[in-house]
Amino acid sequence: MKRTYGLAVLALLAAVSGCSSGAGQGAASLSTPGTAGSPAKAPAPSTAAPTGQGAAPGGAGWAKWGLTALPQAPAAPADKPIKLTRTGPVPVFSEVPTHDKVVFVTLDDGAEKDPKFVEMLTDLKVPVSMFLTRDIVKDDYGYFKPLQALGNHIHNHTVDHPVMSKLAPDKLHSEVCDAQSALTQQYGTAPLLFRPPYGDGANSAALNTAVQQCGPRGIVLWRESMQIHDMQYQATDKKLRPGDIILAHFRGPKDLKGETMTAMFGELLARIQEQGFAVARLEDYVQPPTG
Ligand SMILES: [Zn+2]
Repeated sequence: MKRTYGLAVLALLAAVSGCSSGAGQGAASLSTPGTAGSPAKAPAPSTAAPTGQGAAPGGAGWAKWGLTALPQAPAAPADKPIKLTRTGPVPVFSEVPTHDKVVFVTLDDGAEKDPKFVEMLTDLKVPVSMFLTRDIVKDDYGYFKPLQALGNHIHNHTVDHPVMSKLAPDKLHSEVCDAQSALTQQYGTAPLLFRPPYGDGANSAALNTAVQQCGPRGIVLWRESMQIHDMQYQATDKKLRPGDIILAHFRGPKDLKGETMTAMFGELLARIQEQGFAVARLEDYVQPPTG
């Protein structure tokens, strides 16, 4: 069965929503002035947290974070619905064609490096895909290694988070290639996927060419964007659909009006749980180039 994906119109909608989505926020993820006077809230875990390790789905790990467990994701499909090629133009997609009742969570930029979030993902084992920006993570590449060790993949989100459509071809090239080199060196594996900041320029030939030249084999956008407490949907009915890719960020109190990364992520999981979806690993549905 063949299904199409990466409809240009969806990509355009995604671009409007932006990486630091929310109208008027612009490049807030890069340089948000401190919001003085909004103290961080207490972290989510209760003092009665159990000491159980390797929490199974539905186990104590979820209760520790005040959450209801998500359904367990089905086994990864043997025939992966998105197949990447070794050469040629790379596909642009914002959802995965699947009937599985799953969504995919992506985390961008890398500004917030909250140890509590590592603890949370270690407890919950929710798969995420990380799109990291070199200059935002280079002060502490190590923070992301325990997250990677949980099986989560690291992908390319440029050197310094520019608006890609405004760049000359050589700069476009270095934004993708220099990030690719740094992330490959730091994390021991070459990023398979790329996401342009704000989704900008995703469908342009110039960006596609730069991505092809630098190594990633797919450009990933999104269908929903997690804010502080709520999700922004591109679908007018404001409902998740099987295969949707959700955008969230490594953000903390400075960017979340005092809210913590773990609180934001807990709310994201609650929005998914309310709609009966499981979170699957994006890379389990994407076939890297073969042959
Ligand atoms: Zn971003």
